[in-house]
Formats: sequence, structure tokens, C-alpha cells
Amino acid sequence: MNLTPKKYVKCQNISAEWGAQRIKGLSITKTILHLLKRMLPQKQDIRQKDIETSLIEQFLYPKHGPGQMWETVADKIREKGGEIKTEWRVIKLHTEKNRITSVTAQHTKTGETKNWQANLVFSTMAIKDFVEELDSDVPENVRNIANGLMYRDFITVGLLLKDLKIRNKDGSPITDNWIYIQEPDVKVGRLQVFNNWSPYMVKNPGTVWIGLEYFCNEGDTLWSLSDKALEELAGEELDKIGIIRKTDILDKVVIRMPKTYPAYFGAYQHFEVVRQFLDQFENLYPIGRNGMHRYNNQDHSMLTAMTAVDNILSGETDKENIWAVNTEQEYHEEK
Ligand SMILES: Cc1cc2nc3c(=O)[nH]c(=O)nc-3n(C[C@H](O)[C@H](O)[C@H](O)COP(=O)(O)OP(=O)(O)OC[C@H]3O[C@@H](n4cnc5c(N)ncnc54)[C@H](O)[C@@H]3O)c2cc1C
Repeated sequence: MNLTPKKYVKCQNISAEWGAQRIKGLSITKTILHLLKRMLPQKQDIRQKDIETSLIEQFLYPKHGPGQMWETVADKIREKGGEIKTEWRVIKLHTEKNRITSVTAQHTKTGETKNWQANLVFSTMAIKDFVEELDSDVPENVRNIANGLMYRDFITVGLLLKDLKIRNKDGSPITDNWIYIQEPDVKVGRLQVFNNWSPYMVKNPGTVWIGLEYFCNEGDTLWSLSDKALEELAGEELDKIGIIRKTDILDKVVIRMPKTYPAYFGAYQHFEVVRQFLDQFENLYPIGRNGMHRYNNQDHSMLTAMTAVDNILSGETDKENIWAVNTEQEYHEEK
């Protein structure tokens, strides 16, 4: 079995599972019906439960962005006496038979290492890293498959602008949250307009914070550019396709995000072997996105954690319901 990851994968070699998760139940018929329904006067239900994800037009968004939700959760945990350690990177997971007994972590700034006993382990670290850091006898095929899991990485270049050059036909500011960029002569793939998510995302009203999204692989030419070169590229690209004037840039920031997208190619087709191996550890709950190597959004990720907690409280030891989150029924039937 050749599990050596290739750097670039043709679209036809990407599993249909990825597409199925991305566009879910969307069809041409549903899109047309949705458009017709929109023309009729109707009561807006904020839950939008009957609308396919791709057709949703309204979002509930925290005033200062999604991080605010987790700051609130952290406050609540601390209020109840819980302790949250940040800046500690797990570097070893110690096992005894079918349990994770303790976790060794290293402080990212001071380099100090510490060991913590573990009753229950919820893991959102990438499965590739998790398996590598397990101290137990990992079977060779499990190690190879985990090591062959692939990811797509991501850079965002934020630009603070005096204004956007593009406008609506009537001259008013555009209201889009994000715009996919199709022009073949630029590398940017998508654009976020943060103040259209929430006006509180900019300090000075009248200015515009945008985020250019570059999809890449860790270590490739784009990833390896200096921050300055990336900021320069971002300004030039958007100026070239007429979205901004380079001279309107007031500030900039570059953020690199490794392992943004768990990929459904590489060794992924053999993932079940890794899953079965991990399921043997009775106090381990791989959850979330990279923790399960699943293209989960925030809702799915939270649901996997909530399902894991429900299982623990009810004494359910089978983890099937956690792995079943975000797997479409049609996909199961096909399989
Ligand atoms: C660019 C982008 C846009 C997105 N847009 C949306 C969107 O519009 N809507 C939506 O619902 N979802 C969106 N998502 C997906 C959403 O961010 C994820 O589904 C969600 O964050 C997954 O939660 P998680 O807890 O599994 O992982 P994360 O939020 O990635 O958290 C994992 C945590 O584990 C930590 N960690 C990893 N390894 C270790 C280690 N060895 N030791 C200690 N800690 C470790 C990381 O530092 C991190 O804090 C987007 C994701 C990206 C990258």
C-alpha cells in the first residue's frame, strides 16, 4: 500500500464524500424552489431549519466574532472553578492497556514540560500528530495510515482600507460577507469583508477590514513567502482585479494556519483502520475537525463534543454516535 502523500491532487481524485459534505442536500430543483419561495411574502424564521446550508442568507454572528463565544465559555468554566491551561502543547500521550493514563505537555513560550494525569481525554489535535505522540505500541499499518493523512493549509492576509473600490450598482457599499475570486491570474481564492459580518469588527467606522484567503500547502512557495511579500502580493492582486486601490491600505496582518482542511485523499481511504485503533482507548474521545479528520464545521465540532459528554454521563461506551455526526445518510447507504 503506497501511502506517500502527493502534494497536489486532481479534482477527479478527490473523494465524492468531500463534495457531499460541502453542499449537502443542495440540488437545482431545491435552488429554483428556494428562489420562487423568496418572491412570495413570508415570515422569516431565524432558525432557517428547512433551508439547505448553501442557500442560507442570514447568520447569527457574535458582535466581536466567533472567538467571543469561546471567551464566554471560558469565563463560565472558570466561574465554576474549572482551570484552563493555554500555551501548553501536548507532546506525549502515555497509555496503559486500553487507557490514556497521562499527558505530557510543553509550554510554547518557556519550554517547560509537565505531566498531567488523565481520567478522560477529549482530543482536538490532528490525528496525524496524536498517533505520532502515543507512547503505546501502535501497529505499523495504523502508524503509516495516520502519517499519510493529508491537509490543505491556509494563509489569510488582512488589509485595513480607507474604502473598497467596488460598490453596488447604485453606488452604495457592498454587503457581501465573502466573495469567491475566480480570476485565473491571481492566487487569492476568497475574500472576507469583516465589517459586513459585524460592524464592530472595525475600530473606526468608515474603514474596511478585508481578509484575503490563500489556499496552499505548508512549506510551498506561497507559504514560504515573508509576511512583507505576502502583504505586497495581496495589495497588488486586489488592485489588479479592481477591488481595492493599493493606496487605500492603512494596515495589514498575515496569519498562517496549518492543517486548515483535513483532506479526503492521501491515506484517508484507509482511515477506518485508525479509527478502530483509537476506539480501543476507552477514555479517549477524538472530537472536532482535525481531531476526527473530518470536514466538520463549528456546529458539527460542538455536536461531537456534546455527544461524547452525553455518552459519558449515560454510561454509553460505544463511540459510533460521535463518529456518525456529519456523515450523510445517503453516504452510508452508498457505502
Ligand atoms: C478559514 C476557516 C474558515 C472557517 N469558516 C467556518 C464557518 O464560516 N463556519 C463554521 O461553522 N466553521 C468554519 N470553519 C471551521 C471551524 O473553524 C472548525 O470546524 C472548528 O474550529 C473546529 O473545532 P475544533 O475544536 O475541532 O478545532 P480548532 O478550533 O482548530 O481547535 C483545535 C485546538 O487544538 C489545539 N491543539 C492542536 N494540537 C495540539 C497539541 N498537540 N497540544 C495542545 N493543543 C493542541 C489547537 O491549538 C486548537 O486550539 C472555518 C475554518 C477555517 C480554518
